[in-house]
Amino acid sequence: MTECPACALESEEGQDTCPYCGYEFPVVKKSMTWMVLVFSLLMIWPLLEVIDFLF
Ligand SMILES: [Zn+2]
Repeated sequence: MTECPACALESEEGQDTCPYCGYEFPVVKKSMTWMVLVFSLLMIWPLLEVIDFLF
């Protein structure tokens, strides 16, 4: 059983969305989330440097 973070009701595991409130369960694995986080940081960092340079 998986607890929905939006409505706190338990639903069957393996479902994409909560049957009660329609909340979409995150399907990304933890390691993948870290990769996305690091990647987005690398993308945002030069942008922050540019903003710092302009203002
Ligand atoms: Zn829900």
